[in-house]
Amino acid sequence: MATIFTKIINKEIPASIIFENDKVIAFKDINPIAPIHILVVPKKEIPTLNDITAEDSDYLIAMYLAIKDIAISLNISENGYRLITNCNSYGGQEVFHLHFHLLGGKKLGPMLSF
Ligand code: AMP
Repeated sequence: MATIFTKIINKEIPASIIFENDKVIAFKDINPIAPIHILVVPKKEIPTLNDITAEDSDYLIAMYLAIKDIAISLNISENGYRLITNCNSYGGQEVFHLHFHLLGGKKLGPMLSF
């Protein structure tokens, strides 16, 4: 089922887009938890990481390449950053369209909080 991210991809609702090509869109998270908090989203409706297949490999590679370019453009590649993908209930996933959270802009704390 289409999510709010599909509406952003289709430009039906606004977002602060910082990167886009034919396979990936990236935009600022509306509720940031770090100075830099970008969502990197494939332009294919893949609900969760559990749903990826080999056919999606072009999208998955494109996501990583986009992250690399975004990190360089935001000047965080050298200091570093963190990627998170939440999956389903225990992972805390809220939007069921696969995405990476790209977090950076400061030294991040412990990886997990409970
Ligand atoms: P997740 O919990 O991994 O599914 O993350 C979903 C993320 O989407 C959350 O961090 C939300 O703040 C973010 N989000 C939801 N709606 C929007 C929106 N319209 N624009 C930007 N970010 C959004």
